[in-house]
Amino acid sequence: MIPFVDLKAQYLSIKGEVDAAIQGVLDSCQFTLGSEVVAFEKEFAAYCQSPQGIGVNTGTSALHLALLAAGIGRGDEVITVPFTFVATVSAIDYTGATPVFVDIDPRTFTMDVSAIEAAITERTKAILPVHLYGQTADMDPILDIAKRHGLLVIEDACQAHGAEYKGRRAGSMGDMGCFSFYPGKNLGAYGEGGMVVTGNAEYARTIRMLRDWGAEKKYHHVLKGYNFRLEGIQGAVLRVKLRYLEGWTEARRAAAARYDALFSHSGVVTPQAMAYARHVYHLYVIRTPHRQEWMDALGAQGIQTGIHYPTPVHLLPAFADLGHGVGDFPHAERAANEVLSLPMFPELTEAQCKEVAHAVIELASPQARARDLAPVT
Ligand SMILES: *Cc1c(COP(=O)(O)O)cnc(C)c1O
Repeated sequence: MIPFVDLKAQYLSIKGEVDAAIQGVLDSCQFTLGSEVVAFEKEFAAYCQSPQGIGVNTGTSALHLALLAAGIGRGDEVITVPFTFVATVSAIDYTGATPVFVDIDPRTFTMDVSAIEAAITERTKAILPVHLYGQTADMDPILDIAKRHGLLVIEDACQAHGAEYKGRRAGSMGDMGCFSFYPGKNLGAYGEGGMVVTGNAEYARTIRMLRDWGAEKKYHHVLKGYNFRLEGIQGAVLRVKLRYLEGWTEARRAAAARYDALFSHSGVVTPQAMAYARHVYHLYVIRTPHRQEWMDALGAQGIQTGIHYPTPVHLLPAFADLGHGVGDFPHAERAANEVLSLPMFPELTEAQCKEVAHAVIELASPQARARDLAPVT
């Protein structure tokens, strides 16, 4: 069996350090926030090349509080993409603002920067690009448009820990960057976690208050806040794991390079790493119009796959109130029908990559031949 991700293998490789870190929190009784969280905020912000980090309970809360700190609320519009995990759009919705979608660039699955300006109105307050699958959006045009129109940029970097755009780290380019430490992410907690990184001291101060009941100091609540605190155990675990992140990221990149080489000349549509990017391969996503058939066949051979994501947010029942229909964002819709995520995690071996790739090529070859789509070697 080849799993889609293998959290157990990773835990076993660092068990001694993780267990000791958790024991340290139990001994200190700093169960929520506390010194491990403070240290992790500093270390992760530095990793992101960003001056400050504010730990929160989830990536969704990171997005929610970043938007609130930016003063976004009812009557405002935030431009984002429909091809993302639902949380991106829910976070906008929580503030009372309206999500306004632009389609994706089908090569990268990230925001089509040429579609942004047409979506800007006098109500637009921010652009929220999503660094999907581990590759950043094309940030220079986004930052340029935002500057010209007086808009904020909030990065959804929940899938992009350590990703780079022209040498700049994901999360450090916009006004704020938001990360998730959900267990399956490239840097995953043993529970839930999230962080906002920012170079803006005022946003940082506001987010620190909002995550802890809007308190400036104990029981002095100056804002209507939330309980979005990061737990001490998660801070301690994440500090241990952060020390391994670069190695794990390079292992993901090596596995992706192996897949790329195995798929070359096969006709399989592989991920496009752009020249500007350090892609960190949170997911390795291929495309096929025969997705269900491939998933079933791979599953029967013990190869687990995933779909990220089967329905674009503008077509989800939960967001029917936005009034969109089929055909509104054709690239997002087509991607949702065709994307297939192959096993991808740092511990994936060369033999496992080969087994997956050979099984996929086997599926692709007759179809490619029949439809004369690609040369078959
Ligand atoms: C995981 C994820 C989120 C939400 O993070 P949680 O920690 O699960 O709340 C938001 N956006 C994207 C793109 C994600 O992948």
